[in-house]
Amino acid sequence: MLLANLSQQFQVRFSPALANKPKYTKPTSSKPIDPFENPSKGLFITDLPPSHFLLLNKYPIIPDHFILATKEYKSQTDLLEVGDLGAAYDCLKAYKENGEELFGFFNSGEHSGASKPHRHIQFLPVESMCSGIEEGKNWSVLADSLVKTPRPGIFTVSPSSVPCLTSPELPFTYFSSPLPEDPSSEHLHKIYISLHEQACQIVQQVTKSTETPQSKEESPISYNIGLTDRAMVLCPRISEGSKVKSRNGDLIGPVSLNGTILGGTLLVKSEEDWDTLRSDEAKLQDILYAIGISSTASEREGRL
Ligand code: AMP
Repeated sequence: MLLANLSQQFQVRFSPALANKPKYTKPTSSKPIDPFENPSKGLFITDLPPSHFLLLNKYPIIPDHFILATKEYKSQTDLLEVGDLGAAYDCLKAYKENGEELFGFFNSGEHSGASKPHRHIQFLPVESMCSGIEEGKNWSVLADSLVKTPRPGIFTVSPSSVPCLTSPELPFTYFSSPLPEDPSSEHLHKIYISLHEQACQIVQQVTKSTETPQSKEESPISYNIGLTDRAMVLCPRISEGSKVKSRNGDLIGPVSLNGTILGGTLLVKSEEDWDTLRSDEAKLQDILYAIGISSTASEREGRL
């Protein structure tokens, strides 16, 4: 089965620099270099009191990619706190008030495409995400379209009584919630916790995982969040990417994906991957099936 319109919903971008991106490694007792501990003056943008600051991404693939990081070291794999989401929303709101749009994403865990263990949420101006899109392609930020109704899918109500929408229209399972106008940080956090709870349940049901987190703050699953001023979407991850066969039968990839997928953008590191994924929607679908809980597995569990 080929899901309709995948190649309209996703833009594929090619960046050779991605080939040098370090892989996520579990923090060990020897302290790894932390780029967010003492950001260089040239990258520092501004303080965001009381607990965060903004800096430019040193290796942007999309122009004006910036990062919200915690001042004090906090773990990327611990659950986000009220203040993290409040600071993230302040960034989205500032862009909106300026008549611009921003897409935020968060990568957490070894299968999420994350590489740095110091807590950070990343942002891309939507205008930059639109640059260079092929003519005739009707692309918009995926996270926003996932909360538009009517959409085939089901609403579930999590234990924290926030309704979450999930839909079989994409190859991977996600949980999404529209955001009210100007939500409080606490409200955003409640939505996040409820999306995360649902994601943990489906991962547990499908993978039968017995892994337990090291602390009660640590997320038991890998996941990505996509965030706009209108939508929060969370996608549980069980693989960072996969290899697919190119048209001549060679294996290409692995294509490593992070939270930018929830914005409708795939970044790939070789021209061959780029050509294959742009021209063959079935390959694009294969990659997207492999990164998370496939929507067919969710259907089997009675979740869709
Ligand atoms: P992730 O790989 O999701 O953990 O995100 C880490 C981000 O930090 C990537 O987008 C990197 O390009 C970016 N990055 C890596 N080193 C630095 C640095 N020294 N200063 C600013 N950004 C950095």
